[in-house]
Amino acid sequence: MLGLMQDHPLMISSIIRHAARHHASAEIVSKTTEGALHRTTYAATEARARRLARVLQGLGIRPEDRVATLAWNGYRHLELYYAVSGMQAICHTLNPRLAPADLAYIINHAGDALLFADTTFAPLVQAIAPEIRKTVRAVVFLCGPDSMPDIALPEGMDLLCYETLMDAADENFAWPVFDERAAASLCYTSGTTGNPKGVLYSHRSTVLHAMAINQADVFAMRARDRVLPVVPMFHVNAWGIPYAAPMAGSTLIMPGRHLDGASLTALMNGERATISAGVPTIWMGLLMHLRASGERLPHMQRFVIGGSACPRMLFEAFQSEFGVRIDHAWGMTETSPLGTYNTLKSTNAGLEGEALLRLQEKQGRALFGVDMRIVNDAGEEQPWDGEHTGHLEVRGPWVASAYFDGQGAEAFSADGWFATGDVASIDPDGYMEITDRSKDVIKSGGEWISSIQLENIAVSHPDVAEAAIIAATHPKWDERPLLLVVAKPDREIDKADILRIYDGKVARWWVPDDVVVVDALPHTATGKLQKRALRETWRNHLLQQAG
Ligand code: AMP
Repeated sequence: MLGLMQDHPLMISSIIRHAARHHASAEIVSKTTEGALHRTTYAATEARARRLARVLQGLGIRPEDRVATLAWNGYRHLELYYAVSGMQAICHTLNPRLAPADLAYIINHAGDALLFADTTFAPLVQAIAPEIRKTVRAVVFLCGPDSMPDIALPEGMDLLCYETLMDAADENFAWPVFDERAAASLCYTSGTTGNPKGVLYSHRSTVLHAMAINQADVFAMRARDRVLPVVPMFHVNAWGIPYAAPMAGSTLIMPGRHLDGASLTALMNGERATISAGVPTIWMGLLMHLRASGERLPHMQRFVIGGSACPRMLFEAFQSEFGVRIDHAWGMTETSPLGTYNTLKSTNAGLEGEALLRLQEKQGRALFGVDMRIVNDAGEEQPWDGEHTGHLEVRGPWVASAYFDGQGAEAFSADGWFATGDVASIDPDGYMEITDRSKDVIKSGGEWISSIQLENIAVSHPDVAEAAIIAATHPKWDERPLLLVVAKPDREIDKADILRIYDGKVARWWVPDDVVVVDALPHTATGKLQKRALRETWRNHLLQQAG
């Protein structure tokens, strides 16, 4: 017997309709490319999204067509999120920090029909236009007619102005209802190995993920919150905030392109932001600015930090010096992204000092909806004792079941688990801790050494700005950890002193074999260390040393 409840498909359009009806006057504040602040509301955004759907229809967009965006966090990008998915087309967010050749590859692979771009990306658009002319019919710049970039596009590719198109359209569009499993948006993984792979989210996965991240022990955004997503809308849909915030009726504060410490402080304080989210490098920049300027963050309550391991000093500094709580989160493009989130339980709510910091360093507990396990090389599940590590696998309604176009099938097991490529431990309370990427773990004499743990300890040294641990080939132990460090400005690195910081913190055989001082470390387009490039350069360092 079936239950007698109404059957409403989970539609992304229902989020913006809800926000427009129940939080009509809640604000969306955007720092524009020109520098001024733009203010609008959920009611106006829903109406503009309907108008934009009419524009897209006029440009020949049909269900399942891919529409690409190359844009910072702002109100027009939000309109695209809702209009494109809402009309049953697929919103494909592009990461402008990728190399032009990678961008062209991704656009062609996705078969994007239109490209909507911020004017700051005009030179980039011009550079890749000849490579994408077979698929992209028109480029629409997100501006008014007075700000249109003066660029030449290949024949057959139209150059259009967003506001001119909007002015010419009407709002006579009714949000269609269709299968909730239909594709809604597309995001490519940053591609640290091989070609980037596309993750295709559905309406159902997006709505469920947005509801899940708003649970009380996760982002917990409320109607009274003023939320500033520093994480870009091209990095896994800004971690779901553009969907979860309107669901809750929270004000959205969109930072645009300037993500340095001074710009963020001005926006956070000027707009009284209460919650913000981003990757560790952003908060490092903010911390340096606050310490140098003496400014405070009187309204800010919480930062959500994820994307890479949050170094201990960030927890310490923001919580004790600035009174801002740090929540550590873990996720991936393939998991929409939220998989785990670190908040306290009744059993550990009284933790303080070192014990609390140690817990906060972990990536957190699985959200309801995400199931996880750790397995060894033979696929056997490992115990949840906080000691054993294994390959982390996850499953759930907002975890990918395959990549777009069938690439990378080896990551998906026949029994429905997705192999994350991360190595982790899980403690008896269910707190998961990432110890490595499977590719980066150091296998010394058959035992595993966590590169992340060694890096976190290295950056706690007062002379170190950034650190990377890589597996260097060793004649006896196969691999040994090699530490690469960047010095803080005006500091000298004393190798022996750096290595002393490991005393008592890790087993003796974990201590790196050598320290190399470098000017800078390479990063991917989403701010992660490019370990593969480092390994290529430094893999033979210990062999060369040994002669
Ligand atoms: P992406 O799909 O580009 O967001 O990258 C996902 C990967 O980032 C994960 O598989 C992890 O390796 C890494 N990652 C994300 N969040 C964290 C975190 N809090 N700590 C350590 N690594 C993380």
